Amino acid sequence: MSDNNSTAVDVLVIGGGNAALCAALTAREAGASVLLLEAAPRAWRGGNSSHTRNLRCMHDAPQDVLTEAYPEEEFWQDLRKVTGGNTNERLARLAIRQSATCRSWMRKHGVHFQPSLSGTLQLSRTNAFFMGGGKALVNAYYRSAEALGVRIRYESPVDRVEVVDGLFRAAWVNGERIKAKSCVMAAGGFESNREWLREAWGQNADGEWPADNFAIRGTRFNQGVLLKAMQGAGADFIGDPSQSHCVAIDARAPLYDGGICTRIDCVSLGIVVNKFARRFYDEGEDFWPKRYAIWGRLVAQQPGQVGYSIIDAKAIGHFMPPVFPGARANTLEELAGQLGLDATDFVRTVADYNAGCRVGTFDHTALDDCHTAGVTPAKTHWALPLDTAPYYAYPLKPGITFTYLGLKVNEEAAVHFAGQPSRNLFVAGEMMAGNVLGQGYTAGVGMTIGTVFGRIAGAQAAAAVMQQGAEHAHA
Ligand SMILES: Cc1cc2nc3c(=O)[nH]c(=O)nc-3n(C[C@H](O)[C@H](O)[C@H](O)COP(=O)(O)OP(=O)(O)OC[C@H]3O[C@@H](n4cnc5c(N)ncnc54)[C@H](O)[C@@H]3O)c2cc1C
Repeated sequence: MSDNNSTAVDVLVIGGGNAALCAALTAREAGASVLLLEAAPRAWRGGNSSHTRNLRCMHDAPQDVLTEAYPEEEFWQDLRKVTGGNTNERLARLAIRQSATCRSWMRKHGVHFQPSLSGTLQLSRTNAFFMGGGKALVNAYYRSAEALGVRIRYESPVDRVEVVDGLFRAAWVNGERIKAKSCVMAAGGFESNREWLREAWGQNADGEWPADNFAIRGTRFNQGVLLKAMQGAGADFIGDPSQSHCVAIDARAPLYDGGICTRIDCVSLGIVVNKFARRFYDEGEDFWPKRYAIWGRLVAQQPGQVGYSIIDAKAIGHFMPPVFPGARANTLEELAGQLGLDATDFVRTVADYNAGCRVGTFDHTALDDCHTAGVTPAKTHWALPLDTAPYYAYPLKPGITFTYLGLKVNEEAAVHFAGQPSRNLFVAGEMMAGNVLGQGYTAGVGMTIGTVFGRIAGAQAAAAVMQQGAEHAHA
């Protein structure tokens, strides 16, 4: 395979996050020449992957940083439950099985792991944490890719893709046409495209455009340009554009790149009210890692797309404190005043909740028996009365992590056209996560999908180059 042609390349990888890097490294290891195009400048490279902390891995016995066991079946049941069955079992199990073996490959490329952090996400059994977080992970992959001879271009947003009869021909960047024998697209979802989000979420009954009040937790560069291009090219899609990983974050977070430190993790330790000081969902439904990703949508469905997470002094020390300090007051009336809520309604909501609490043995590491009775909505676990000053509150807004609308794939990560897999166009990461995640989320599975399908896509793209070489040799 040639390695020094500046206008044509064996494998073109579009994107510069985890999935793209896994694809580029794997294709290069298989002997292909690889060019990676990253839309962002070097300082902002790595997309949403640079904000991550861990990936979810199956394992049948304790392994390095992972405690106990997390067998395939349990991982699958977790995924089935959070997606409500809206998942492709074959592809999901493929990702789960390969999650068992990817860590040694990651280590080879400079990724280090560390034991799980403590806090409200109890993940030491299920998730392997990256030493230094996602930023260190992408930096390690870039270093390894450069050392292996992967060519990398920053500030190179692909704006057009040429596909003829289901075959990739070339991509366009800043007016330049780049040919390749095969291509892996790993350019994220469309979560950073505010116009598209607005269109996907539409208008609610109150005439509001909910998406106008969303913040984007990660990169500004995932504009969905390639997803749009593939819609234009007639590729097969999966998923609903309004489905996404959407978290309740601090309403004071910046529009882009607020990252992990703007997440509010104390929901299950208290109550959440809307701007009318009413509770609207069971805050203690399940463990926080299995529920945090539904709260963005829940807040998005509230008037004004705002909520308030309320705790009392007993909760302090039991969750990871967010970057902005919460409102703090010695009385509930005072707290309501600081939040701009009607004090009478707020005090009544808290009093009703407190009266409904049936306190057993509080245990935040188990689905405990502290629950409410006679309150709607019920709080089914960790229900302790809010009775110990000072009281704290965090304002919430929806923070979109990534969208689920994606390209339909098979086990080879091939893009499909009218049900037929392309022979040289592959896709990985957020651009196809919807095959596994029709809805819902369980922490760490985004990086599992990106790592597994990134490697598959890279291997298949390299194999497609070999195949073309063999066909030419016989022609
Ligand atoms: C704050 C935050 C925390 C998260 N924490 C976790 C976690 O701990 N564990 C987990 O599993 N998941 C986590 N996720 C989700 C995770 O980030 C994604 O599932 C995963 O990173 C997706 O990888 P990707 O490579 O598909 O996309 P990205 O990492 O977003 O990469 C997309 C890349 O494509 C580039 N790009 C976009 N358009 C173009 C174009 N037209 N041309 C060229 N390049 C383009 C972007 O610049 C970017 O480099 C988190 C996300 C956020 C935002």
